[in-house]
Amino acid sequence: MAKTKSVKSSGRFAQRYGATPRKRVLTIETKAKQGQRCPKCRTMDAISRVAAGVWVCKSCGVRFAGGAFVSQTTLGKTLTPEEFKSSKSISSQ
Ligand SMILES: [Zn+2]
Repeated sequence: MAKTKSVKSSGRFAQRYGATPRKRVLTIETKAKQGQRCPKCRTMDAISRVAAGVWVCKSCGVRFAGGAFVSQTTLGKTLTPEEFKSSKSISSQ
């Protein structure tokens, strides 16, 4: 019994940890499975997580700050400076 109707992929935890943490895991996993694009070279699925909030692109090597579990959050988009929004690139270290 790997998948269930309400908690889907986090059904692998069976009845452990409670319903709310398993639903949180599900939302994070569905976001991560959607595929994440590099903000500099726009390559799909080339970025990997170094630590919580630190992401690196395997294609162009850029290291940037993002969300803990997804590379770009809606709040992060809002707080991005205007010059970065216009150029749509993040300078390498
Ligand atoms: Zn890249």
